[in-house]
Amino acid sequence: MQDFKAMDNIQMVDLKTQYHRIKDEVNAAIQEVIDQTAFINGPQVKKFAKELKEYTGAGFVIPCANGTDALQIAMMALGFKPGDEVIVPAFTYVATVEVIALLGLKPIFIDVTPDTFELDINQLESKITDQTVGIVTVHLYGQCSNMEEILRIAELYKLKVIEDTAQAIGAGYTFSDGRKAQAGTMGDIGTTSFFPSKNLGCFGDGGAIFTNDPELAEKIQMIANHGQKKKYYHDSIGVNSRLDTLQAAILSVKLKYLDDYSKSRNEVADRYDHAFASHPYIHIPERVGNSTHVFHQYTIRLAESVDREAFKKHLADKGIPTMVYYPLPLHLQKAYLEYGGREGQFPVSEKLCKQVISLPIHTEMKSEEQDYIIEQILNFFK
Ligand SMILES: *Cc1c(COP(=O)(O)O)cnc(C)c1O
Repeated sequence: MQDFKAMDNIQMVDLKTQYHRIKDEVNAAIQEVIDQTAFINGPQVKKFAKELKEYTGAGFVIPCANGTDALQIAMMALGFKPGDEVIVPAFTYVATVEVIALLGLKPIFIDVTPDTFELDINQLESKITDQTVGIVTVHLYGQCSNMEEILRIAELYKLKVIEDTAQAIGAGYTFSDGRKAQAGTMGDIGTTSFFPSKNLGCFGDGGAIFTNDPELAEKIQMIANHGQKKKYYHDSIGVNSRLDTLQAAILSVKLKYLDDYSKSRNEVADRYDHAFASHPYIHIPERVGNSTHVFHQYTIRLAESVDREAFKKHLADKGIPTMVYYPLPLHLQKAYLEYGGREGQFPVSEKLCKQVISLPIHTEMKSEEQDYIIEQILNFFK
């Protein structure tokens, strides 16, 4: 067995080593911003938006302050009005339902699939009413949702589609007719986050909004900037949501490495897959044929009989961190109970909250580290 001491630095995400590999480049970019002192809306913001547009193939990229703002601005730009219903998965991060509630919209929760963790398209049509205006799909953990079906149903019922791409930047999707598109560029609007631990992370908060529609792009740009097109003339109610110039400069450097980062994450995921594929108590994350996976998280589902707390503690005792994304589904969160959530309503989401656990995965994982993690996981079941 490997020496525990030598392995006492295992992290969920290793941002320090990642930084050190590109330190000179990043530092120079930061210094340039400081020398120019254009801290707000400096040239680096436009430059990064252009680079991200080229990378993703989106028609327009509008940077903003964070991924939650991006969702809010998206819903404002689409003209969702108080009382309108928006369909959201019950198993995801809170941001989506939070902005829905803040805008006075009504979240309509939908269950997810047990294997891909994406919203269950078979339940979609039964959730649609005369009040429904949109669907927010989340490409959870880094793999695209079933966009083909979501877009088909949305078109049928004239609904808007927002893709929350905070965990899936760089994931590629292939439609059945062979057309390819990146996560975040298929629906009416895509949103993403540059929170430090995201696949493309900056050194603070940051976000971006994608659309292919020029009119929507103009609205998004305006809303993100106090509802103004011309300085001090406000055509609509907006918000103040900007990507800092410093963050944009850092992101420009890191974007060049994003494909390498995705590749490293996939190598880690492949090794976990290989180690646990036939394990009786561990379900590895399912991969779908028409999406690449960028493994923001490597999330396994433990068999029902496994005590997740004991599993987590066993690994923690060996110096291996794990995380539960997420321990409680949105419909059962205290803040959102007023929307009528009750136990048993979304059985898959509720079960996943009890069974999922995410293992360390990042761009800097050493194979000896991962061997040790795998060994300790297998030991738990001995
Ligand atoms: C991180 C995240 C967000 C929010 O991004 P912030 O930049 O932290 O506001 C939204 N949705 C999902 C799925 C996320 O993972």
